[in-house]
Amino acid sequence: MKKSFLTFTLSLLLIQGLIAQDQDTTMTFEEYEPVSTLVVPGERITEAKYPFVDMHSHLWRMASMDLKQVAGEMNRLNMKVLVNLSGGSGETLKAMVKAAEKQAPGRFIVFANIDFDNIDKPGWTEKTVAQLEEDYQNGARGLKIFKNLGLTVLDSKGNRVPTDDPRIDPVWAKAGELGMPVLIHTGEPAVFWAPIDEKNERWLEMKQFPDRHRGDSSRYPSWEVVMQEQWNVFKKHPETTFINAHFGWMANDLARLGAHLDEFPNVYTEFAAVIAELGRQPRFAQEFFIKYQDRILFGKDTYRPVEFHTYFRVLESDDEYFDYFRKRHAFWKMYGLNLPDEVLEKVYYKNALKILPGIDESLFETN
Ligand SMILES: [Zn+2]
Repeated sequence: MKKSFLTFTLSLLLIQGLIAQDQDTTMTFEEYEPVSTLVVPGERITEAKYPFVDMHSHLWRMASMDLKQVAGEMNRLNMKVLVNLSGGSGETLKAMVKAAEKQAPGRFIVFANIDFDNIDKPGWTEKTVAQLEEDYQNGARGLKIFKNLGLTVLDSKGNRVPTDDPRIDPVWAKAGELGMPVLIHTGEPAVFWAPIDEKNERWLEMKQFPDRHRGDSSRYPSWEVVMQEQWNVFKKHPETTFINAHFGWMANDLARLGAHLDEFPNVYTEFAAVIAELGRQPRFAQEFFIKYQDRILFGKDTYRPVEFHTYFRVLESDDEYFDYFRKRHAFWKMYGLNLPDEVLEKVYYKNALKILPGIDESLFETN
């Protein structure tokens, strides 16, 4: 009797131990990756339905890269032209343009960048305008402004330089005069200013990259102020074409983005790094794309070929509940926008051809 009771108790403990191994109730949000049991039609899309221009990419070491190999990867995606926004200026930019001409002519476009150091030194404006002209002569086809302007660029006295600083006005005007579109990334998603708590949709990103939080009002102005300074530039320079990067951080409020595009006819926009916002509102986003089909460009940001597949599937398919690739951007699933062909064609390449001078249009001839 005693012996069998002991055996019984022991086996109970053993079973409990096995169950405990299977039941992890202490895992973190990062570890939780449930496998969907949903069975619905749909499949990966590895090649875009139409040839496309990626308006938002960064090849920092383009001058020393094997661009033939990159062009081969681009072919498999149906990407005809990649816009490298990290061209720098002067010799750096020249070397990139040369490398592209030599290895894969027509497939890469380089945008110049501006150095805001010394903005309060005499002659900064003239020097910067002259540098932009020189970069244009050397093959730069646009200007890219990084998010440091308006957030972290300081003058020599430690004052923040706002995006609408009048010392930059002649630069915007010169870009317009040269027919160089200005792709401008200003600010961050508005939730980067919100408290890092259980209500914050980007809590995971704030946990992984605490430096990205902008809530410290002694260091950063509000989201509204930072963005308003960008909009002031759009208003002041109607002759310059701007591309508001990342849907102007309004992908989570497309009605507001629509009003923004209505207000500034010289502004285009692109959806780099915000496709997950679109994939969670497929019906409203489809309406938005149809309404603003002449103002939207394809952009991806980080060049990682496999991630393009999700962009294609969100834009082209009517698939339901499929994965996005970066949990800190989105812990939710994607749904396809099922965009009409004529809208896809404009977003993939026709709008880019309108504003980017010098693209070889024969690359985009479809049969
Ligand atoms: Zn970027």
